[in-house]
Amino acid sequence: MPTPASILKETFGYDSFRPLQREVIENVMTRRDSLAVMPTGGGKSLCYQIPSMMFDGLTVVVSPLIALMKDQVEQLRAYGVPAVFLNSSLSPQEYQENMDYVKRGEVKLLYVAPETLLTPRILSLLAGLKVDCLTIDEAHCISEWGHDFRPEYRQLVQVRKQFPKAVCLALTATATARVRQDIRSTLQFSTSNEFVASFNRENLFIEVMPKRDPTQQTLDLLNRYKDQSGIIYCFSRKQVDELASYLISRGYAARPYHAGLEDIDRKRNQEAFIRDDAQIIVATIAFGMGINKPNVRFVVHYDLPKSIEGYYQEIGRAGRDGLPAHCLLLYSYADVAKLNYFIDQKEGDERRVAIQHLNAIVGYAEDEQTCRRKPLLSYFGETYAADNCSNCDNCNSSPTPLTDVTIPAQKFLSCVKRADEKFGAGHIADILLGSKNEKVLRWGHDKLSTYGIGTELTQKQWMHLARQLLSMGYLKQDGEYRTLSLTPKALEALKKRAPIFGVLQEAERVKKKDGRKEEVEYNHALFALLRQKRKELADEAGVPPYVIFSDRTLVEMAAYYPQSPSSLLTMSGVGQVKLNQYGDAFLAIIKGYAEKHGLKEKRKDAPRDKSDSNRRYVIVAEAFNRGEGVGELMRKYGVTIGTILDHLARYLSAGNALRKDSDLQSLSSATPDQQQTVFAAFEELSPLYQLKPVFDKMNGALNYDELKILRLLYLISNQE
Ligand code: ADP
Ligand code: ZN
Repeated sequence: MPTPASILKETFGYDSFRPLQREVIENVMTRRDSLAVMPTGGGKSLCYQIPSMMFDGLTVVVSPLIALMKDQVEQLRAYGVPAVFLNSSLSPQEYQENMDYVKRGEVKLLYVAPETLLTPRILSLLAGLKVDCLTIDEAHCISEWGHDFRPEYRQLVQVRKQFPKAVCLALTATATARVRQDIRSTLQFSTSNEFVASFNRENLFIEVMPKRDPTQQTLDLLNRYKDQSGIIYCFSRKQVDELASYLISRGYAARPYHAGLEDIDRKRNQEAFIRDDAQIIVATIAFGMGINKPNVRFVVHYDLPKSIEGYYQEIGRAGRDGLPAHCLLLYSYADVAKLNYFIDQKEGDERRVAIQHLNAIVGYAEDEQTCRRKPLLSYFGETYAADNCSNCDNCNSSPTPLTDVTIPAQKFLSCVKRADEKFGAGHIADILLGSKNEKVLRWGHDKLSTYGIGTELTQKQWMHLARQLLSMGYLKQDGEYRTLSLTPKALEALKKRAPIFGVLQEAERVKKKDGRKEEVEYNHALFALLRQKRKELADEAGVPPYVIFSDRTLVEMAAYYPQSPSSLLTMSGVGQVKLNQYGDAFLAIIKGYAEKHGLKEKRKDAPRDKSDSNRRYVIVAEAFNRGEGVGELMRKYGVTIGTILDHLARYLSAGNALRKDSDLQSLSSATPDQQQTVFAAFEELSPLYQLKPVFDKMNGALNYDELKILRLLYLISNQE
């Protein structure tokens, strides 16, 4: 009897599961309805593909992305898994053929669009068959609270009733508590078996650079990833067209993609990108949904995105294959002004929300100290516990030294006050710089004592300082009009002339080392030959190259020079069927190359366990277990309570235990009622990563540190 692990290895050629894959698969195999939330590239597909091969009956996969079905089915067939799809893109004859396959019980997986599934023709086809699993992909489409509601998804529950024995698996990459609740209740899940994976994508190198010469900065990046695939996102169609033409004129295989192009051109450009005929896509945000390409090596944001959510989704399209990928955001304050201009055309709630989103991404882009992963993940309610991810610009450069900015800060704060706390940062800077613009004169601000006292800094530096004063809590900003006012902290600082430390812009940052994590060492010349072969085979078969082998597989071949079928099988992504089909073609190239250059086969070591890196949390947790209190640990390591709590949670989630008799309970200021409500929420949710749903549930009455304390108490009380 095959096991999930043996199928993973023998069919798909992978050595180990990605986080939560095993848990979801086991849960589905015991016929418990499951909801799995995983980021893009997290490996959702295997969660139903592996069970489908273990059930006797059929697995039906509902997906709204017609374009992706063909791709998925092609990939499965290359692995030797019998699968078909039914949707409106098929000719009547193909449609009938696929129906016949299903009827004869020859396929394990059937992909259908929701509207197709709901037709009498398909329902009666399925009525005569044993359906073991109903998988709902992109399950957030069920919820009106999701960003992509589709009414026909609501009717899927009727289909469920027709197959009461079939287990239901819902998959999505959208994680809000509201949407998750909606999915479970609409599909009438009996028990709530929910699996929420971390949204951290370790292999993405995340970088923000001041936008100086964006074209040159983009070219520099392209030159580092010669012949590799990447996406460049721009704000406007015009910008897309210009940049694409420019890149083409410089000899790059680039294509534009935006909503203003004819359908047919858009489709052609997308196809060229998927098939590795064009390396670069220059696009507006319209590009990406329904693209499954695993080997996107870089994503550039040529212009500032409108929100952290959108940004994270876009960079998420890089590196789905798990290999290192580079995400570069070019940031300038001019872009903020441009987006503000568009926001100002909106009204009411829409406007307020847009401002909030923009503030969040600006805060993110301007932070030059904190690990990039912290704010990104905390935006999704997840805490990132490591102090240093060693795969973002901020973790890889020495921190910008803080300087004493007391004098300019005092000037700015008192100017805010003198202007009656009714103006935004730009106007305050104008006053300090002694501007004679119309607004300054109209309000008589050229008469203020702070008028013209700040010429030692530029407008840009004042704006930058203002944003730091905001984030340090000296200023607060009105949500709708962006007017600044002083906080008690500022009044106190002005009164006591307390020193203020910050960063004055334009101090160049010192890079410790050249960004990215070390890639696997591999032979680039051999890799190029293997890629060429892959492209040939793909074109012959009329499929995208990654259906044959992923980049990771080729990288491993070019690193270990396997020269026999059995060693080829140890490469990631080589299963039995692919070995039979393509093994000889690739072995011939590797052998020929190795012989010519006198290279020997190298043994591939078992995957290295990474649990030993970032051991700080272990040291902290062990000290805790020896009897040290949280307060003591904070002093000893000079960190905040949040950091200590994160370390302890991480230690628990790695499968260790914590002692019960600590000072944790005494640190909590939650009332017994609140504590009970929070515990009940943890009971229902997957507690380790996602605190935001609980935070929302408590309407913010308990801050995140409080919730972290309660989370630990909850987990400790539940440990064996
Ligand atoms: P999602 O649907 O969550 O975006 P996919 O299911 O498309 O992700 O998987 C993304 C990529 O990761 C695919 O190329 C897939 O083959 C690969 N993959 C999935 N699981 C594993 C694993 N356990 N080991 C190695 N690669 C995997
Ligand atoms: Zn980092």
